[in-house]
Amino acid sequence: MEKRLRLAPSPTGLFHIGTARTALFNWLYAQKIGGKFLIRIEDTDSVRSKPEYTRNILEGLEWLGLKWDEEPLKQSDRISIHKKHIKKLLESGNAYRCFTSEDEISALREEQKKKGLPPKHDNRHRNLSEEDIETFISQGKTSVIRFKIDETIQIKWVDQIRGEINWKGKDLGGDLVLSRRAKGYEIGDPLYNLAVVVDDNFMNITHVVRGEDHISNTAKQILIYEALNFELPTFSHTPLILNNEGKKLSKRDCVTSIDEFRDMGYLPEALANYMAFLGWSPKSGESEILSIEEISKFFELSDINKAGAKFSWEKLNWINSQYIKSMESKKLSKIICEYWNNMGWEAPSQEWAIKLTILLRDSITVLRDVIYQSKPFFLLPPIQKEGLDFLENKDCKACLKLILNYLVEKNILKLDNEKAKEIISEISKSHNIKKGTLMKSLRVAFFGCLSGPDLIQSWELLSESKSDISRIQRCLISV
Ligand code: GLU
Repeated sequence: MEKRLRLAPSPTGLFHIGTARTALFNWLYAQKIGGKFLIRIEDTDSVRSKPEYTRNILEGLEWLGLKWDEEPLKQSDRISIHKKHIKKLLESGNAYRCFTSEDEISALREEQKKKGLPPKHDNRHRNLSEEDIETFISQGKTSVIRFKIDETIQIKWVDQIRGEINWKGKDLGGDLVLSRRAKGYEIGDPLYNLAVVVDDNFMNITHVVRGEDHISNTAKQILIYEALNFELPTFSHTPLILNNEGKKLSKRDCVTSIDEFRDMGYLPEALANYMAFLGWSPKSGESEILSIEEISKFFELSDINKAGAKFSWEKLNWINSQYIKSMESKKLSKIICEYWNNMGWEAPSQEWAIKLTILLRDSITVLRDVIYQSKPFFLLPPIQKEGLDFLENKDCKACLKLILNYLVEKNILKLDNEKAKEIISEISKSHNIKKGTLMKSLRVAFFGCLSGPDLIQSWELLSESKSDISRIQRCLISV
């Protein structure tokens, strides 16, 4: 039988890292077992669902490299089919009409609260007669459809991550609402637990892998599966992603949507690699830098941890910097050029862009760092306090004068690494000045401070963009 897994996101917000990690686990396992990875957009909440969120989720999945196998299914297209199944459950006696009004439900909740009891419906309309129903309807009362939950039942399944899970029927909050309120004999819009079972069955889903916040839903859904005579899939409940305080990662933790990670400058390969390690680790102590294709070769659901997975910026940053370091220079430089373009900065040539990329790549953690790091190569940096102090030292000005004269006399308008080293060596020897002093002086001229990237390579780049000489001159004039 074909193995089929799915992601069933609700398009009520931007693509969240929790959903993305669930998608990744589904995708990884589908690849591992040679199955299919499918998408179902659960858009039946017409108030909160938005097409732009669906787009955002699909684009995010594509960006992460999580390709799906069939045209995504839209749950809202299937409402009439869900209703047909509710009707079946009504006819088989597994479900019934419940006319309890909102006010009556609130009163029941209040009463339970006073007694310190959890909210639970009292199933008051489970055994209404046809006449009772007719009377309620003739009084204009609206009704929901409730699914009968046997209080004495024990629901048991073997979770692929957590092992055997037991849930008592009496802990499921009373008979389960399957559809929203509707008038007369109508059936209102179907709700999550019903729709998910009908659609997972329709899509022939064999493995349901989703967050641990759905464990109690699984207990309810198993009862619906049985009532509809559907074959059960296997269930796996992944651990939540936690923040530093051990609470569920949320918007309050600053960054949670995949868009935001992208905009901050995380590479999709790095983010996907990191997410795979959020709650999962390979048994055999493999390297931590692995593509999702590599991971999928040995990914097992049973290797996922039960405990929540703490989100770590340090680890994500480390993984991202590893990907930046090892990316092919031309490819990385293309990505970096986009950041420069957005800033209105133009590289004098493609080779120059690649050289600057190579020069800076080791000091970049997230791609956005490149803006700050490469700024002094495009814009004249101000001379900072430490630079001014150094310039006041007479040797510094003398050094810069010697270098300038050398460049002008020999008409050196463009130099490479070798030439730059040669100039420093020659002046150092002929004037008995330490190479370090010459280089520090140049550093102040180029960057306005005493730190920055490799000086010789920087000189080569600044010479190509014709700003080395003017930067030296500026120090001689202004100080
Ligand atoms: N729409 C549900 C959610 O986003 C899907 C849960 C499931 O996978 O069944 O949480």
